[in-house]
Amino acid sequence: MTLPDLSTAPQRPPVAVRTSSAKPAWKWSTSVTLVAAAAVLGACTSTPLPPWPSSQSAKTQAPAPLPRSSAAKPVPQPLGATPRNAEAVATPVTPAPALIGRNEDSLTPPYSAAVAARFPDPSIQYSTPGLGKDRRSFTTNAELAQWLNGLADARLSADARPHLLNLGTSQRGSPILGVLMTRAKNPTPAALESAGRPTVVLVGQQHGDEPATAEALLILARELAPGGLLESLLEKINVIVVPRANPDGSEAGTRVTASGVDMNRDHLLLHTPEARAIARLVRDYRPMLVVDSHEYTVVGRFLEKFNGIQKYDALVQHATTANYPEFLTKASLEWYHAPMVAALKDQGLSSEWYYTTSTDREDKSISMGGTQPDTGRNVHGLKNTVSLLIETRGVGIGRLHAQRRVHSQVVAIASALRSTAEKAGPLEQVRSFVVRDTTALACRDQVITDAKATPGQRELTFIDPTTGEDRVTRVDWNSSLTLRTLQTRARPCGYWLDAGATSVVERLKLMGVQVMRVAESGSLLAERYEETAREVSERRDVRGGIAGSGEIVRVKVTPVRAAIDVPSGSYYVPLNQALANIAVAALEPDTQNSYFANRLLEDLNQTARVMATPSLVFEEID
Ligand SMILES: [Zn+2]
Repeated sequence: MTLPDLSTAPQRPPVAVRTSSAKPAWKWSTSVTLVAAAAVLGACTSTPLPPWPSSQSAKTQAPAPLPRSSAAKPVPQPLGATPRNAEAVATPVTPAPALIGRNEDSLTPPYSAAVAARFPDPSIQYSTPGLGKDRRSFTTNAELAQWLNGLADARLSADARPHLLNLGTSQRGSPILGVLMTRAKNPTPAALESAGRPTVVLVGQQHGDEPATAEALLILARELAPGGLLESLLEKINVIVVPRANPDGSEAGTRVTASGVDMNRDHLLLHTPEARAIARLVRDYRPMLVVDSHEYTVVGRFLEKFNGIQKYDALVQHATTANYPEFLTKASLEWYHAPMVAALKDQGLSSEWYYTTSTDREDKSISMGGTQPDTGRNVHGLKNTVSLLIETRGVGIGRLHAQRRVHSQVVAIASALRSTAEKAGPLEQVRSFVVRDTTALACRDQVITDAKATPGQRELTFIDPTTGEDRVTRVDWNSSLTLRTLQTRARPCGYWLDAGATSVVERLKLMGVQVMRVAESGSLLAERYEETAREVSERRDVRGGIAGSGEIVRVKVTPVRAAIDVPSGSYYVPLNQALANIAVAALEPDTQNSYFANRLLEDLNQTARVMATPSLVFEEID
């Protein structure tokens, strides 16, 4: 796809893709409901590329200043924010000998005073229960619930009041809470959709040992509430804040959920109630932007491998996975990444692309965030959102620099909120185009089934653990910004699934993928998967083996043409739909995240690629 000239005047993309040449091959039945007829009819034409909307303003507009700085007016203090006084600013972190190691509860830095001095507190002080002066623990689950309940105060007028959302229950029984900020009188997803403001979802603390994320989201929720400094953004957008997606991990101080599963590798497989809660939220509210807030390891394996302390206040990355629409990549870079980096710099905060390194001590390469469709960042991207990861330097350093970590999160996320508000119209145009383009690709062109990051080199700056000085290091660097395509296949019209594939169907529907049931038996022109090799393996990401994912079945397959008979009660997943690329990620069997590899489908004969528009009667399923 060649992107158009950026200077072209903004223009609405052409409307509805329907052609009279595309005769529906569907049989109507009075006893069944034919679903999504419009989408189906739209499948057989390509969508012309619209011009890139409003590029000029994206490039020239300086990001608005952060709500709170030393120069800003005093912050409203519904929950007790206090301006930092000059003396406090000047107070250095407690000097300490060069200690290296995890030290969660002590104020003793896990590195030398010279390193600690590189990270002074911001000029304002954030206040949440967990950021209190004499606190040894971050905000507890009970305090978090109380804070959100306080925002949704019934004494506020109905059309300004934030709405508390109960999104689900963690494995140990804690509520997974969110709060919806909107000017819309009716807060239902359908009403928000018709009101025309894009919705943003902010997700914090999927990893329980990354606490500044939840603290920052509590601050942002308060500032979006009535009287808050970001409240005016609600004229243009709705915001749903989920400060703590993994309450059990937070309570236990663990990265993983109670079952040992890393929920941020579970957004396609959906084994955990925590990931399912987020999937349901994204399905129902169809956000334009999802921000996933994390913290990263500061010492640990980076010190071991590179003899350096991690430097950057924020590491950021958008969705980088095969089949992610190119226009959304472009929007991520131009409308979000560039202003966010500028906003951080404006606050004296450094940033870099997100990167990590494997847990293997011998492996000195560094990789950007992965390319697999398993993380929130990538899976939400395939749901046609702009999907951003923001990581601050926090894992393994306890409460050290907590104010600065929270500040970095607040600055970066506030920038993303402003970008969405400023670009609300063009973003809607881009998404509208992307949805129609994705829908129109069914039965034609190719789909990528395997892609990898591109190896290269990059200069990174670490901090010398003794002197605290910058040290530029050239590293082997796997870039996820350019994906190498390793395998493609003809894009099918859809996938057929055996009647026994109920756990597959349930998961697809949880993500909002359209699935239909075959109402009357018939036949399909399809491709069966012929298995040519098999091994039992493990799911891996750029860090190493994925926690809690168990054994997977890696197969090699060859698609083989066949007419297949399909009984009533079996299923059809059409690809002429907005979430086609989610279906591809889940259903092509020879990838590590596929539902087959992860044993949600037992047998390759339970599925087939449907290669011609089916002439069958379908019924809607609940
Ligand atoms: Zn994380």
